[in-house]
Amino acid sequence: MNTSSAKDQCSPAKRWWSKETVAVVTGANKGIGFATVKKLAELGLTVILTARDPEKGQKAVESLRAQGIDVWFKRLDVADISSITDFASWLHQVFGGLDILVNNAAVSFNELNTNTVEHAETVIKTNFYGPKLLIEALMPLFRRSPSTSRILSLSSRLGLLNKLTNPAIRKLLLEEETLKEEKIDQIVKQFLSQVKDGTWQEHGWPKVWTDYSVSKLALNAYSRVLARRLEGNGVSVNCFCPGFTRTDMTGGWGQRSADEAAAAAAALALLPSEELPTGKFFKWCIPMLYSKL
Ligand code: NDP
Repeated sequence: MNTSSAKDQCSPAKRWWSKETVAVVTGANKGIGFATVKKLAELGLTVILTARDPEKGQKAVESLRAQGIDVWFKRLDVADISSITDFASWLHQVFGGLDILVNNAAVSFNELNTNTVEHAETVIKTNFYGPKLLIEALMPLFRRSPSTSRILSLSSRLGLLNKLTNPAIRKLLLEEETLKEEKIDQIVKQFLSQVKDGTWQEHGWPKVWTDYSVSKLALNAYSRVLARRLEGNGVSVNCFCPGFTRTDMTGGWGQRSADEAAAAAAALALLPSEELPTGKFFKWCIPMLYSKL
């Protein structure tokens, strides 16, 4: 699918939201997160731009204000549980709740063609435990209207099951009915302990950006389990891979701009309730079942 036709397909069709609809975006001082905040605010939602560095966050908010776009700012470091707790209590006090969470914040310490696991702990902590702990902290605050409550996590096709060749872990992750959060935690811990003892290359983990890929693999699996847990409870949970996008994470390389990726993310976050699935991985704008990959 080429970019322009995908973009059309990803455009939000029907406006169901209003200024009362509250969206939170993590890691939004730059890149796809910043562009997603901009898009959601332009579409008329109340948007909270969050960033771990308050100076960078404020600067981002000011640059939007200079373009006539007004958004809120609150510091949020998804790798720091006390920051998550502070954020949840601020959100409760100021807004009473939220409707949309876009888990965007993530790190990778690799150049495009390198594969170091030197920072594996930080990568897993930020990219997997960050969204997971934030979702759990915000869960009581979702307004749980079937038409509005949704979680969209920016993930990656690098974390799809077809990148994993370890048969035992593949089997665990493919057992949809029995997969539990504890099993996902165990898989992640197993990876980190193999990083520590230097044997990680022997165990069939994804070959490209391995620590990042494992973090997204775990995020995908957790999202699937969470979607099942929340089925019928008024919160949808989906993942979205924007594809190779020109941001700092890719050293400026990529097939599309952050604005194009953000337009697709915003459109998915704003799907009308009758078209909104749960437990899906969107590869660009195409919804896919993890288990089929
Ligand atoms: P960038 O590196 O441009 O931006 C990442 C953002 O996350 C920055 O704002 C960064 O803040 C923030 N961040 C990092 N750690 C934390 C933390 N602990 N708490 C809060 N914020 C944090 O990346 P992209 O815009 O490219 O990536 C956005 C999302 O899209 C990520 O989830 C990424 O994995 C995903 N993605 C990107 C692709 C691409 O090709 N670009 C492809 C597939 C998926 P700071 O400025 O302080 O570092």
